[in-house]
Amino acid sequence: MRVQSLEIQRYRNISQLSLDCSQDLHIFVGPNAQGKTNILESLYLLALGKSHRTRSTKELIQFGEPHAILKARVKRDETGSRLEVQLRDLGKKVSINGIEQSKLSQYIGFLPAILFAPEDLAIVKGSPQIRRRFLDMEIGQVSPTYLYHLSQLHKLLTQRNSLLKGLGTNKKFQVEFLDVYDEQLMSLSLELWRKRFHFLKQLTKWSGEIHQSITSANEELLIEYLPSIPITADMSIEEWRTVFQAELQRVREKEIRRGSTLLGPQRDDFRLVANGLDLHTFGSQGQQRTAALSLKLAEIELIHQETGTYPILLLDDVLSELDDSRKTHLLEAIRGRVQTFVTTTNLEGIDGETLDKAQIYQIRQGN
Ligand code: ATP
Ligand code: MG
Repeated sequence: MRVQSLEIQRYRNISQLSLDCSQDLHIFVGPNAQGKTNILESLYLLALGKSHRTRSTKELIQFGEPHAILKARVKRDETGSRLEVQLRDLGKKVSINGIEQSKLSQYIGFLPAILFAPEDLAIVKGSPQIRRRFLDMEIGQVSPTYLYHLSQLHKLLTQRNSLLKGLGTNKKFQVEFLDVYDEQLMSLSLELWRKRFHFLKQLTKWSGEIHQSITSANEELLIEYLPSIPITADMSIEEWRTVFQAELQRVREKEIRRGSTLLGPQRDDFRLVANGLDLHTFGSQGQQRTAALSLKLAEIELIHQETGTYPILLLDDVLSELDDSRKTHLLEAIRGRVQTFVTTTNLEGIDGETLDKAQIYQIRQGN
């Protein structure tokens, strides 16, 4: 996958910017607060239809302007396409080759992208919600049906939760309706779990290999999936269903008391374990950062395996946080295969050979 050109209009502090992106490596250099991350964010938005920093469309539009436009020409194998995102206060429009896509799930996946930013440390250190979001965004890039099922699940949960609340306060509501919702909850959950188990299995394989090669102590990294019901990868889908049914019965009273759905993919988590220790609790800052980097690099391989194309890679401010051997490993791992966009405040520690082949931009005040 290659981005051939990028155009940004009235986006954050960037009034107008056109880039010809024929190179494999692009480095945006400059002091703080100049617009480097804004450029990466615009590529991320073109890829995933949303920002990694905010849910608010308004925040993305340049102060005082009515709307912002992002455009990219991208090329996969020999086929070129035009992607466009228009942002207005009250929403956004996404289109491919001039045809508006009404569902984001139809748009996502056209330009696979992996972003690695300092915030990604939260995948290791943060709450289960951040890890679920990571799973959902990344699986969504390779599976539009996953995103579709996920949005169905969220609609269903809203309905099911309001029924549970009703049952807790007003006997007029019929408990039989809950059985109907439970059937739907089960079939959606089983689909989502199937994809998550598959994704995490692949991710464990790739990230384990990468992690060993970038840690000096040959650290062994494992990902342990923690679904909200006791199911495992070696059980059949029918066994999952039986377990889920029993678990739903077991918690039914509690769900009605709380007015909330207590089991399902919306309650899952996973754990990263290095040499037997849970990194969330026991990892050093450096170990946590390296584990997050291993996951992201593993995704490059995973997306390639699932879609037949390498994603683009967006590295926000991460070079300065890596020691020289990790930096070298990272740049070697992607050289020639993965088109990469990097932000940094300085070029120190990047080897001459890499710099020779890179397109370097000095960014000042959105220019
Ligand atoms: P750092 O090195 O600190 O990460 P950066 O170059 O990555 O800096 P950006 O995050 O890209 O900086 O942001 C640059 C500037 O964009 C900020 O100073 C911010 O005030 C400005 N900015 C953010 N949103 C808007 C907006 N909607 N309109 C105009 N300017 C904005
Ligand atoms: Mg930045």
